[in-house]
Amino acid sequence: RVVSAAPASPNEEAIERALRPKLLQEYVGQAKVREQLEIFIGAARKREEALDHVLLFGPPGLGKTTLSHIIAAELGVNLRQTSGPVLEKPKDLAALLTNLERNDVLFIDEIHRLSPVVEEILYPALEDYQIDIMIGEGPAARSIKLDLQPFTLVGATTRAGMLTNPLRDRFGIVARLEFYTAEELAHIVRRSARLLKVAMDEAGGFEIARRSRGTPRIANRLLRRVRDYAEVKGDGRITEDIAHKALAMLDVDPQGFDLMDRKLLEAVIHRFDGGPVGLDNVAASIGEERETIEDVIEPYLIQQGYLQRTPRGRIATLAAYRHLGVAPPSRDGD
Ligand code: ADP
Repeated sequence: RVVSAAPASPNEEAIERALRPKLLQEYVGQAKVREQLEIFIGAARKREEALDHVLLFGPPGLGKTTLSHIIAAELGVNLRQTSGPVLEKPKDLAALLTNLERNDVLFIDEIHRLSPVVEEILYPALEDYQIDIMIGEGPAARSIKLDLQPFTLVGATTRAGMLTNPLRDRFGIVARLEFYTAEELAHIVRRSARLLKVAMDEAGGFEIARRSRGTPRIANRLLRRVRDYAEVKGDGRITEDIAHKALAMLDVDPQGFDLMDRKLLEAVIHRFDGGPVGLDNVAASIGEERETIEDVIEPYLIQQGYLQRTPRGRIATLAAYRHLGVAPPSRDGD
């Protein structure tokens, strides 16, 4: 995919870092989450205590990593960052935990992918700021308890439902990030254009914003691709016309759907009569992983009302038929 919400290349990551808001005040949208965090962070600071553990969930690119950095900055503490798949052994996590300073933030991305043995040592750490570690081997092996500094775990995951119950229960603050409105994304695109020193008019920015699948990461990427287009095909300035042409070239349609979105809707409509069709069949049909469909592609299509998730499978809505210019089936005799 040209413009996906998947992990970025090292170069893109550097740009992403540069575009990240550093404080809660600069964090656009997510009003409810922001308000909650403001209060809880303020209270923790006042008491000079660690903030309760925070679980952030929502599709990729909505600002979970950004928010974890902001939480640490607002608390005035260090942030240590890792991810579920990177922590292979209990000792990997133990090393991180024992190095935390008082009230630090530990950010674990993709926390649903922690291995069970690693997750196991996290429980007492979260509950009592203690870990049990094994010393020595064989018959001489023994377990010792180590005290940790109070700390805050910020966990991020695409779906809260993928966490085990005991892990989920240990988060005092659970926040779901929502897709952004076009207005919020326009705000983000304007800010990024300013930071990247890109000339852009209001309508050009809005065109990018409303075609970014409700996702800041995609908005920032499209901005950079449209800037390339403007530099080569125009005078460098992003206008509505330039944005429109550049996005068409990138296969982002007027609704903001990309190739994979359309491929999925087309498969459900043409190969499965509009559904209901099971996720595995959709995955096989479009050659995409189940997880990618569930975490990346579907949520936006569902939120926008183009796809429905039912117990019997996925169903294309009338809006999907209309979008693809296909006559909907007559439901007479159903
Ligand atoms: P996630 O961790 O959920 O995948 P990130 O936190 O990495 O998403 O966000 C991706 C990019 O989008 C960041 O580089 C940041 O610049 C931008 N971004 C995300 N959320 C916001 C926001 N609320 N306001 C401004 N920019 C944002």
